[in-house]
Amino acid sequence: MKAQPASVPSPHQSVWAATVERPMFSPLQENVRTDVCVIGAGIAGLTTAYELIQAGKNVVVLDDGPLAGGMTELTTAHLTCAIDDRYCAIERWHGQEGARLTAQSHSAAIDRIEEIAKNEAIDCDFQRVDGYLFLPSRLDDDMLRQEMEAAHRAGLTDVVRVDRAPFESFESGPALRFPRQGQFHPLKYLLGVTGAIMRDGGRIYCNTHADTIQGGDAAKVTAGDFAVHCDAIVVATNTPINDLLVIHTKQSGYMTYVIGAKIPPGHVERALYWDTENPYHYVRVQTVRKNGEEYELLIVGGEDHKSGQAEDTGERHQRLETWARARFTAMGKIEFTWPEMCGRQRTGWRSSGATPWIKTMCLS
Ligand SMILES: Cc1cc2nc3c(=O)[nH]c(=O)nc-3n(C[C@H](O)[C@H](O)[C@H](O)COP(=O)(O)OP(=O)(O)OC[C@H]3O[C@@H](n4cnc5c(N)ncnc54)[C@H](O)[C@@H]3O)c2cc1C
Repeated sequence: MKAQPASVPSPHQSVWAATVERPMFSPLQENVRTDVCVIGAGIAGLTTAYELIQAGKNVVVLDDGPLAGGMTELTTAHLTCAIDDRYCAIERWHGQEGARLTAQSHSAAIDRIEEIAKNEAIDCDFQRVDGYLFLPSRLDDDMLRQEMEAAHRAGLTDVVRVDRAPFESFESGPALRFPRQGQFHPLKYLLGVTGAIMRDGGRIYCNTHADTIQGGDAAKVTAGDFAVHCDAIVVATNTPINDLLVIHTKQSGYMTYVIGAKIPPGHVERALYWDTENPYHYVRVQTVRKNGEEYELLIVGGEDHKSGQAEDTGERHQRLETWARARFTAMGKIEFTWPEMCGRQRTGWRSSGATPWIKTMCLS
């Protein structure tokens, strides 16, 4: 494994990609045997590999790009149990038990990331913060009440209504506060997880495209001229590559856009923020350390649309900037905008109809 220096930032590189040196792994160049083959080295695949190795399994990870070079490097890394689709909707679609499971699994995923970061001493800026769901206008206050009640029924009894989110520079109006959410630097975290996987005998092959997947007694994954023979296969490719019907027909790919701008320290209190506009905005703060400089970055996302239905990336970044400058008055220079629209299009996937978002970091 060789270190790949953090390159000169491309205009559309995420803050995460611009601030780590990512290890490079060779492609698969021989037939290998293992207990479990994990396809995909994003947060889902690397976490699965880590957990399996902790459980005593031999693991091989394949990815057709670089380590964590899929959607994971584009995330804004809000670690939250405040589901984008809202507990009211989850309850309607999946009943109270489904909503409880959703709340429990998302909370457990945050706890597990915190635990792994602590156990493996991973310096990944993990921090517990509150999350605030606020309204674009005060007119929908009833929506907050209904969502709070649904969150309580789902077991999140510490969600409370507050008169405003803790913004100094603008009055948000009423909000729901979700305590003990989390935020981190996802690539620093995954480099730590990767180090633990390698330390404990895992094998990772990058630039290795899984061509075929065969389950059963003679399970194997083929990649070019070589194969991984195994007892079990985990497909962690974000949207499945082995089943092109059942899940794909329930999903839609969405594009979402992000800007990162310098702010003076303390201008925005550290927390996760989401409004209820359609499409909604999502906001958080990250300390950036780069080229000997340290500053606070305000990360603002939104402007989602179904993939293929718009190509006005620049205008969408511009609209995010306008939205943010109207509210965060001390916001300075834009340092990052991502993702870009050209090349291999990377989207968030969400399901349509009565199934929950897949655009989530919940790993359970
Ligand atoms: C701008 C943006 C902001 C977001 N913000 C948040 C947020 O704040 N909180 C949150 O929870 N979620 C957020 N998300 C969603 C979150 O980033 C994703 O849900 C998560 O990163 C998905 O991880 P993954 O491991 O499932 O997929 P990926 O990171 O996409 O990993 C899948 C991997 O599989 C590999 N692969 C695919 N096909 C093959 C093949 N045939 N052979 C070999 N390898 C293959 C890919 O190269 C890729 O590396 C955001 C997403 C975006 C785009």
